[in-house]
Amino acid sequence: MTTRYQAPKGTFDILGAGAAARSELERTAQTILSRAGYERIQTPTFEATELFSRTVGEATDIVQKEMYTFEDGGGRSLTLRPEGTAPVARAYIEHGLHKQPAPVKLWYHENFFRFEAPQAGRYREFSQIGAEAIGSDDPAVDAEVIVLLSELLEAMSVKDVRLRLSSLGTPSTRERYRAQLQSYLEANIDALAPHVRERIALNPLRAFDAGDSATQAVMSGAPRLMDSLTSDERDHFASVREALEATDISYEIDSTLVRGLDYYTLTVFEFTSDALGAQSGVGGGGRYDGLIEQLGGGETPAAGWAAGVERILLASSAAAPASGPVDLYVAYTDVQYRVAAFQLATAVRTAGHSVRMELAGRSLKGQLKQAGKVGSRFVAIFGDEGVSLKDMDSGDQQVVKPEMVMHWISRSQAL
Ligand code: AMP
Repeated sequence: MTTRYQAPKGTFDILGAGAAARSELERTAQTILSRAGYERIQTPTFEATELFSRTVGEATDIVQKEMYTFEDGGGRSLTLRPEGTAPVARAYIEHGLHKQPAPVKLWYHENFFRFEAPQAGRYREFSQIGAEAIGSDDPAVDAEVIVLLSELLEAMSVKDVRLRLSSLGTPSTRERYRAQLQSYLEANIDALAPHVRERIALNPLRAFDAGDSATQAVMSGAPRLMDSLTSDERDHFASVREALEATDISYEIDSTLVRGLDYYTLTVFEFTSDALGAQSGVGGGGRYDGLIEQLGGGETPAAGWAAGVERILLASSAAAPASGPVDLYVAYTDVQYRVAAFQLATAVRTAGHSVRMELAGRSLKGQLKQAGKVGSRFVAIFGDEGVSLKDMDSGDQQVVKPEMVMHWISRSQAL
Protein backbone atom coordinates (compact mmCIF):
# COMPACT_ATOMS: atom_id res chain seq x y z
CA MET A 1 0.00 0.00 0.00
CA THR A 2 1.26 3.49 -0.79
CA THR A 3 1.33 6.14 1.94
CA ARG A 4 -1.20 8.96 1.60
CA TYR A 5 0.65 12.12 2.47
CA GLN A 6 -1.06 14.98 4.25
CA ALA A 7 0.00 18.58 4.77
CA PRO A 8 2.19 18.66 7.91
CA LYS A 9 0.46 19.44 11.22
CA GLY A 10 -0.33 23.13 11.59
CA THR A 11 -0.04 23.82 7.83
CA PHE A 12 -2.69 23.95 5.12
CA ASP A 13 -3.19 24.17 1.38
CA ILE A 14 -4.77 27.26 -0.11
CA LEU A 15 -7.32 26.55 -2.83
CA GLY A 16 -10.05 28.23 -4.87
CA ALA A 17 -12.02 30.83 -2.91
CA GLY A 18 -9.34 30.85 -0.18
CA ALA A 19 -6.68 31.86 -2.69
CA ALA A 20 -8.97 34.52 -4.19
CA ALA A 21 -9.68 35.98 -0.74
CA ARG A 22 -5.95 36.23 -0.03
CA SER A 23 -5.24 37.96 -3.32
CA GLU A 24 -8.00 40.42 -2.55
CA LEU A 25 -6.50 41.11 0.90
CA GLU A 26 -3.06 41.64 -0.63
CA ARG A 27 -4.50 44.05 -3.22
CA THR A 28 -6.33 45.98 -0.50
CA ALA A 29 -3.17 46.23 1.62
CA GLN A 30 -1.15 47.32 -1.41
CA THR A 31 -3.67 50.08 -2.19
CA ILE A 32 -3.90 51.39 1.37
CA LEU A 33 -0.18 51.23 2.08
CA SER A 34 1.06 52.58 -1.23
CA ARG A 35 -1.26 55.58 -0.82
CA ALA A 36 0.76 56.34 2.32
CA GLY A 37 4.12 55.90 0.54
CA TYR A 38 4.98 52.31 1.48
CA GLU A 39 7.01 50.19 -0.92
CA ARG A 40 6.97 46.42 -0.93
CA ILE A 41 9.92 44.44 0.39
CA GLN A 42 10.55 40.72 0.15
CA THR A 43 13.20 39.06 2.28
CA PRO A 44 14.48 35.46 2.33
CA THR A 45 12.42 32.71 3.97
CA PHE A 46 15.31 31.89 6.28
CA GLU A 47 17.88 34.03 8.04
CA ALA A 48 20.82 33.54 10.38
CA THR A 49 19.37 32.16 13.64
CA GLU A 50 21.11 34.86 15.65
CA LEU A 51 19.14 37.60 13.88
CA PHE A 52 16.05 36.39 15.70
CA SER A 53 17.51 35.07 18.96
CA ARG A 54 19.23 38.41 19.64
CA THR A 55 16.38 40.73 18.69
CA VAL A 56 13.13 38.90 19.45
CA GLY A 57 14.59 38.01 22.86
CA GLU A 58 16.22 34.91 24.35
CA ALA A 59 13.47 34.66 27.00
CA THR A 60 10.51 34.88 24.62
CA ASP A 61 8.32 31.91 23.63
CA ILE A 62 9.33 32.39 20.01
CA VAL A 63 13.04 31.95 20.67
CA GLN A 64 12.73 29.44 23.50
CA LYS A 65 10.53 26.89 21.78
CA GLU A 66 8.94 27.99 18.52
CA MET A 67 11.72 28.50 15.99
CA TYR A 68 12.29 26.12 13.07
CA THR A 69 16.06 26.07 13.28
CA PHE A 70 18.35 23.89 11.20
CA GLU A 71 21.94 23.62 10.14
CA ASP A 72 22.63 23.87 6.43
CA GLY A 73 25.22 21.90 4.48
CA GLY A 74 27.81 24.55 5.31
CA GLY A 75 27.27 24.20 9.06
CA ARG A 76 25.42 27.54 9.42
CA SER A 77 22.56 27.78 11.87
CA LEU A 78 19.55 29.10 9.97
CA THR A 79 15.95 29.71 11.04
CA LEU A 80 12.73 29.91 9.04
CA ARG A 81 11.57 33.45 9.78
CA PRO A 82 9.18 33.56 12.77
CA GLU A 83 8.49 37.30 12.31
CA GLY A 84 9.13 40.08 9.82
CA THR A 85 10.58 43.10 11.60
CA ALA A 86 14.11 41.81 12.27
CA PRO A 87 14.59 40.74 8.59
CA VAL A 88 13.36 44.15 7.39
CA ALA A 89 15.72 45.90 9.84
CA ARG A 90 18.57 43.71 8.58
CA ALA A 91 17.75 44.60 4.97
CA TYR A 92 17.51 48.31 5.87
CA ILE A 93 21.07 48.20 7.19
CA GLU A 94 22.44 45.91 4.48
CA HIS A 95 21.18 48.17 1.67
CA GLY A 96 22.07 51.47 3.33
CA LEU A 97 18.44 52.61 3.24
CA HIS A 98 19.24 55.28 5.86
CA LYS A 99 20.44 57.35 2.88
CA GLN A 100 16.82 57.64 1.71
CA PRO A 101 14.56 60.35 3.13
CA ALA A 102 13.13 59.37 6.52
CA PRO A 103 10.94 57.64 7.30
CA VAL A 104 11.67 54.79 4.92
CA LYS A 105 8.34 53.00 4.54
CA LEU A 106 8.26 49.31 3.68
CA TRP A 107 5.49 46.74 3.64
CA TYR A 108 5.48 42.98 3.22
CA HIS A 109 3.21 39.98 2.77
CA GLU A 110 5.09 36.80 3.61
CA ASN A 111 4.66 33.45 5.29
CA PHE A 112 6.10 32.84 8.77
CA PHE A 113 6.90 29.77 10.82
CA ARG A 114 6.40 29.06 14.52
CA PHE A 115 6.28 25.69 16.21
CA GLU A 116 3.08 26.34 18.17
CA ALA A 117 0.19 24.09 19.24
CA PRO A 118 -2.18 24.42 16.27
CA GLN A 119 -5.79 25.52 16.81
CA ALA A 120 -8.31 27.71 14.99
CA GLY A 121 -6.41 30.83 13.96
CA ARG A 122 -3.03 29.48 15.08
CA TYR A 123 -0.83 27.60 12.67
CA ARG A 124 2.79 26.56 12.27
CA GLU A 125 3.03 28.22 8.89
CA PHE A 126 0.94 31.37 8.56
CA SER A 127 1.02 34.68 6.68
CA GLN A 128 1.34 38.22 7.84
CA ILE A 129 0.99 41.54 6.15
CA GLY A 130 3.27 44.04 7.85
CA ALA A 131 4.37 47.66 7.58
CA GLU A 132 7.50 49.33 8.93
CA ALA A 133 8.30 53.08 8.98
CA ILE A 134 12.00 53.46 9.72
CA GLY A 135 14.04 56.55 10.62
CA SER A 136 11.75 58.90 12.53
CA ASP A 137 10.82 59.30 16.20
CA ASP A 138 7.86 61.55 15.40
CA PRO A 139 4.78 60.39 17.37
CA ALA A 140 2.74 61.04 14.20
CA VAL A 141 4.51 57.99 12.72
CA ASP A 142 3.10 55.82 15.52
CA ALA A 143 -0.36 57.27 14.92
CA GLU A 144 -0.07 56.87 11.14
CA VAL A 145 0.86 53.19 11.30
CA ILE A 146 -2.04 52.54 13.67
CA VAL A 147 -4.47 54.36 11.36
CA LEU A 148 -3.25 52.35 8.36
CA LEU A 149 -3.83 49.01 10.07
CA SER A 150 -7.23 50.21 11.22
CA GLU A 151 -8.07 51.19 7.63
CA LEU A 152 -7.00 47.77 6.37
CA LEU A 153 -9.15 45.95 8.91
CA GLU A 154 -12.10 48.16 8.06
CA ALA A 155 -11.63 47.70 4.31
CA MET A 156 -11.59 43.93 4.89
CA SER A 157 -14.81 44.15 6.97
CA VAL A 158 -13.17 42.59 10.03
CA LYS A 159 -15.91 42.31 12.64
CA ASP A 160 -15.94 43.57 16.24
CA VAL A 161 -12.51 45.18 16.18
CA ARG A 162 -10.99 46.68 19.31
CA LEU A 163 -7.73 48.58 19.64
CA ARG A 164 -5.64 48.52 22.80
CA LEU A 165 -2.79 50.93 23.29
CA SER A 166 0.01 51.29 25.79
CA SER A 167 3.53 52.60 26.25
CA LEU A 168 6.46 50.46 27.34
CA GLY A 169 8.87 53.37 27.81
CA THR A 170 12.53 53.14 26.91
CA PRO A 171 14.77 50.24 27.97
CA SER A 172 16.13 52.11 31.00
CA THR A 173 12.62 52.84 32.27
CA ARG A 174 11.77 49.23 31.66
CA GLU A 175 14.83 48.07 33.60
CA ARG A 176 13.79 50.18 36.59
CA TYR A 177 10.23 48.96 36.34
CA ARG A 178 11.31 45.36 35.91
CA ALA A 179 13.21 45.45 39.20
CA GLN A 180 10.17 46.95 40.91
CA LEU A 181 7.87 44.29 39.45
CA GLN A 182 10.29 41.51 40.40
CA SER A 183 10.27 42.61 44.06
CA TYR A 184 6.48 42.74 43.98
CA LEU A 185 6.30 39.21 42.49
CA GLU A 186 8.83 37.90 45.05
CA ALA A 187 6.74 39.40 47.85
CA ASN A 188 3.66 37.54 46.54
CA ILE A 189 5.43 34.40 45.34
CA ASP A 190 3.21 31.90 47.21
CA ALA A 191 0.12 32.94 45.24
CA LEU A 192 1.75 32.70 41.81
CA ALA A 193 1.37 29.83 39.34
CA PRO A 194 4.56 27.72 39.05
CA HIS A 195 5.33 28.79 35.46
CA VAL A 196 5.11 32.46 36.55
CA ARG A 197 7.42 31.86 39.52
CA GLU A 198 9.99 30.26 37.24
CA ARG A 199 10.02 33.31 34.99
CA ILE A 200 10.35 36.05 37.62
CA ALA A 201 14.04 36.42 36.88
CA LEU A 202 13.83 35.90 33.12
CA ASN A 203 10.60 37.57 32.03
CA PRO A 204 8.52 39.03 34.88
CA LEU A 205 6.29 41.02 32.48
CA ARG A 206 4.74 37.82 31.15
CA ALA A 207 3.08 37.36 34.57
CA PHE A 208 0.37 39.71 33.25
CA ASP A 209 -0.53 37.08 30.63
CA ALA A 210 -1.12 34.26 33.16
CA GLY A 211 -4.53 32.62 32.86
CA ASP A 212 -5.03 31.34 36.46
CA SER A 213 -7.14 33.35 38.86
CA ALA A 214 -4.67 33.38 41.80
CA THR A 215 -1.92 34.94 39.65
CA GLN A 216 -4.43 37.30 38.08
CA ALA A 217 -5.51 38.49 41.55
CA VAL A 218 -1.88 39.25 42.43
CA MET A 219 -1.35 41.01 39.10
CA SER A 220 -4.38 43.26 39.51
CA GLY A 221 -2.47 45.00 42.32
CA ALA A 222 0.93 44.94 40.60
CA PRO A 223 2.78 48.16 39.77
CA ARG A 224 2.12 49.33 36.22
CA LEU A 225 4.79 50.27 33.72
CA MET A 226 2.75 53.26 32.58
CA ASP A 227 3.14 54.78 36.05
CA SER A 228 6.94 54.55 35.76
CA LEU A 229 7.26 56.50 32.50
CA THR A 230 9.52 59.57 32.43
CA SER A 231 8.05 62.90 31.38
CA ASP A 232 9.51 62.60 27.82
CA GLU A 233 7.95 59.17 27.46
CA ARG A 234 4.64 60.46 28.75
CA ASP A 235 4.79 63.36 26.27
CA HIS A 236 5.42 60.99 23.36
CA PHE A 237 2.45 58.86 24.36
CA ALA A 238 0.23 61.94 24.80
CA SER A 239 1.16 63.12 21.28
CA VAL A 240 0.30 59.73 19.78
CA ARG A 241 -3.07 59.85 21.54
CA GLU A 242 -3.69 63.41 20.41
CA ALA A 243 -3.11 62.43 16.76
CA LEU A 244 -5.36 59.37 17.11
CA GLU A 245 -8.07 61.45 18.67
CA ALA A 246 -8.05 63.67 15.59
CA THR A 247 -9.30 60.59 13.68
CA ASP A 248 -12.44 58.54 14.32
CA ILE A 249 -10.51 55.58 15.73
CA SER A 250 -11.51 54.54 19.22
CA TYR A 251 -9.11 52.76 21.53
CA GLU A 252 -8.61 51.66 25.10
CA ILE A 253 -5.49 52.22 27.16
CA ASP A 254 -4.32 48.87 28.47
CA SER A 255 -1.32 49.14 30.74
CA THR A 256 -1.03 45.33 30.85
CA LEU A 257 -0.43 45.06 27.12
CA VAL A 258 2.81 43.16 26.62
CA ARG A 259 3.93 42.01 23.22
CA GLY A 260 5.68 38.70 22.77
CA LEU A 261 8.85 40.28 21.34
CA ASP A 262 11.56 42.15 23.20
CA TYR A 263 12.46 44.92 20.79
CA TYR A 264 9.48 47.19 21.40
CA THR A 265 9.92 50.62 23.01
CA LEU A 266 7.39 53.37 23.84
CA THR A 267 4.14 52.86 21.92
CA VAL A 268 2.69 49.35 21.59
CA PHE A 269 -0.75 48.42 20.29
CA GLU A 270 -2.89 45.47 19.42
CA PHE A 271 -6.06 45.06 17.39
CA THR A 272 -8.31 42.21 18.46
CA SER A 273 -11.56 40.89 17.02
CA ASP A 274 -14.28 39.59 19.33
CA ALA A 275 -15.44 37.51 16.37
CA LEU A 276 -12.40 35.25 16.85
CA GLY A 277 -12.14 32.69 19.64
CA ALA A 278 -9.20 32.33 22.00
CA GLN A 279 -6.76 33.60 19.37
CA SER A 280 -8.32 37.06 19.16
CA GLY A 281 -5.21 39.06 18.15
CA VAL A 282 -5.61 40.24 14.57
CA GLY A 283 -2.55 42.43 14.38
CA GLY A 284 -0.27 44.54 16.47
CA GLY A 285 2.99 46.37 16.67
CA GLY A 286 4.64 49.45 18.04
CA ARG A 287 7.88 51.38 18.16
CA TYR A 288 11.25 49.67 18.12
CA ASP A 289 13.72 52.50 18.49
CA GLY A 290 16.70 50.36 19.50
CA LEU A 291 16.44 47.46 17.05
CA ILE A 292 18.46 48.79 14.15
CA GLU A 293 21.28 49.99 16.38
CA GLN A 294 21.27 46.61 18.09
CA LEU A 295 21.83 45.03 14.68
CA GLY A 296 24.82 47.26 13.97
CA GLY A 297 23.10 50.15 12.19
CA GLY A 298 23.05 53.76 13.32
CA GLU A 299 20.69 55.13 15.93
CA THR A 300 17.40 54.70 14.08
CA PRO A 301 13.94 55.07 15.60
CA ALA A 302 11.18 53.09 13.88
CA ALA A 303 7.62 51.83 14.22
CA GLY A 304 5.49 49.19 12.53
CA TRP A 305 3.01 46.35 12.77
CA ALA A 306 2.17 42.88 11.55
CA ALA A 307 -1.31 41.49 11.00
CA GLY A 308 -2.30 37.85 10.60
CA VAL A 309 -3.74 37.10 7.17
CA GLU A 310 -5.64 33.97 8.30
CA ARG A 311 -7.17 35.82 11.25
CA ILE A 312 -8.23 38.81 9.13
CA LEU A 313 -10.00 36.41 6.76
CA LEU A 314 -11.54 34.40 9.62
CA ALA A 315 -12.96 37.55 11.23
CA SER A 316 -14.04 39.19 7.98
CA SER A 317 -17.67 39.42 6.96
CA ALA A 318 -16.77 40.29 3.36
CA ALA A 319 -18.10 37.96 0.68
CA ALA A 320 -15.48 35.93 -1.17
CA PRO A 321 -14.55 37.76 -4.37
CA ALA A 322 -16.30 36.34 -7.43
CA SER A 323 -14.14 34.98 -10.23
CA GLY A 324 -14.10 37.13 -13.38
CA PRO A 325 -16.57 36.59 -16.24
CA VAL A 326 -15.73 34.21 -19.09
CA ASP A 327 -16.26 35.80 -22.52
CA LEU A 328 -15.91 32.79 -24.79
CA TYR A 329 -15.92 29.00 -24.69
CA VAL A 330 -14.48 27.33 -27.79
CA ALA A 331 -16.12 23.97 -28.54
CA TYR A 332 -15.84 21.57 -31.49
CA THR A 333 -17.96 18.76 -32.94
CA ASP A 334 -15.05 16.62 -34.06
CA VAL A 335 -11.41 16.27 -33.08
CA GLN A 336 -10.35 17.36 -36.62
CA TYR A 337 -11.30 20.92 -35.57
CA ARG A 338 -9.18 20.90 -32.43
CA VAL A 339 -6.26 22.87 -33.91
CA ALA A 340 -8.55 25.52 -35.41
CA ALA A 341 -10.35 25.79 -32.04
CA PHE A 342 -7.01 26.11 -30.28
CA GLN A 343 -5.94 28.85 -32.68
CA LEU A 344 -9.13 30.86 -32.15
CA ALA A 345 -9.01 30.48 -28.34
CA THR A 346 -5.40 31.70 -28.29
CA ALA A 347 -6.07 34.67 -30.58
CA VAL A 348 -9.13 35.85 -28.64
CA ARG A 349 -7.28 35.48 -25.34
CA THR A 350 -4.29 37.43 -26.70
CA ALA A 351 -6.71 40.21 -27.59
CA GLY A 352 -7.51 40.48 -23.88
CA HIS A 353 -10.65 38.38 -23.43
CA SER A 354 -11.25 35.58 -20.98
CA VAL A 355 -11.45 32.34 -22.96
CA ARG A 356 -11.85 28.65 -22.14
CA MET A 357 -11.37 25.89 -24.68
CA GLU A 358 -12.49 22.30 -24.58
CA LEU A 359 -9.57 20.34 -23.13
CA ALA A 360 -11.11 17.19 -21.73
CA GLY A 361 -12.58 15.35 -24.74
CA ARG A 362 -16.24 15.97 -23.86
CA SER A 363 -19.14 15.29 -26.27
CA LEU A 364 -20.67 18.42 -27.82
CA LYS A 365 -23.50 18.19 -25.31
CA GLY A 366 -20.95 17.97 -22.48
CA GLN A 367 -19.05 20.94 -23.88
CA LEU A 368 -22.17 23.12 -23.98
CA LYS A 369 -22.99 22.09 -20.42
CA GLN A 370 -19.46 23.00 -19.35
CA ALA A 371 -19.72 26.40 -21.11
CA GLY A 372 -22.89 27.04 -19.10
CA LYS A 373 -21.17 25.97 -15.88
CA VAL A 374 -18.29 28.44 -16.29
CA GLY A 375 -20.84 31.13 -17.19
CA SER A 376 -19.43 31.89 -20.62
CA ARG A 377 -21.16 34.71 -22.51
CA PHE A 378 -20.51 33.16 -25.97
CA VAL A 379 -19.76 29.69 -27.28
CA ALA A 380 -17.98 29.21 -30.62
CA ILE A 381 -18.67 25.75 -32.04
CA PHE A 382 -16.38 24.44 -34.80
CA GLY A 383 -18.19 21.98 -37.08
CA ASP A 384 -18.71 20.92 -40.68
CA GLU A 385 -20.55 24.14 -41.54
CA GLY A 386 -17.78 26.39 -40.10
CA VAL A 387 -18.03 28.28 -36.81
CA SER A 388 -21.40 28.80 -35.11
CA LEU A 389 -21.37 31.49 -32.48
CA LYS A 390 -23.96 31.10 -29.76
CA ASP A 391 -24.92 34.03 -27.55
CA MET A 392 -25.67 32.36 -24.23
CA ASP A 393 -27.67 35.37 -22.98
CA SER A 394 -30.16 35.55 -25.87
CA GLY A 395 -29.84 31.98 -27.13
CA ASP A 396 -29.24 33.32 -30.70
CA GLN A 397 -26.89 31.28 -32.84
CA GLN A 398 -25.38 32.17 -36.22
CA VAL A 399 -22.63 30.93 -38.49
CA VAL A 400 -19.74 33.44 -38.51
CA LYS A 401 -16.24 33.70 -39.90
CA PRO A 402 -13.70 32.80 -37.17
CA GLU A 403 -12.12 36.27 -37.42
CA MET A 404 -15.53 37.81 -36.67
CA VAL A 405 -15.82 36.08 -33.25
CA MET A 406 -13.70 38.80 -31.66
CA HIS A 407 -15.93 41.45 -33.20
CA TRP A 408 -19.08 39.93 -31.65
CA ILE A 409 -17.49 39.70 -28.20
CA SER A 410 -16.25 43.31 -28.34
CA ARG A 411 -19.66 44.47 -29.59
CA SER A 412 -21.46 42.78 -26.68
CA GLN A 413 -19.04 44.36 -24.22
CA ALA A 414 -19.53 47.84 -25.71
CA LEU A 415 -23.34 47.63 -25.33
P1 AMP B 1 3.10 38.80 16.36
O1 AMP B 1 4.17 38.76 15.31
O2 AMP B 1 3.21 37.67 17.35
O3 AMP B 1 2.93 40.14 16.98
O4 AMP B 1 1.73 38.49 15.59
C1 AMP B 1 1.10 39.41 14.77
C2 AMP B 1 -0.17 38.79 14.24
O5 AMP B 1 0.15 37.63 13.48
C3 AMP B 1 -1.11 38.28 15.33
O6 AMP B 1 -1.96 39.31 15.76
C4 AMP B 1 -1.87 37.19 14.60
O7 AMP B 1 -2.91 37.76 13.85
C5 AMP B 1 -0.84 36.64 13.65
N1 AMP B 1 -0.22 35.40 14.17
C6 AMP B 1 0.79 35.29 15.06
N2 AMP B 1 1.12 33.99 15.26
C7 AMP B 1 0.28 33.26 14.48
C8 AMP B 1 0.09 31.86 14.24
N3 AMP B 1 0.86 30.94 14.83
N4 AMP B 1 -0.87 31.48 13.37
C9 AMP B 1 -1.64 32.41 12.73
N5 AMP B 1 -1.52 33.74 12.92
C10 AMP B 1 -0.57 34.15 13.79
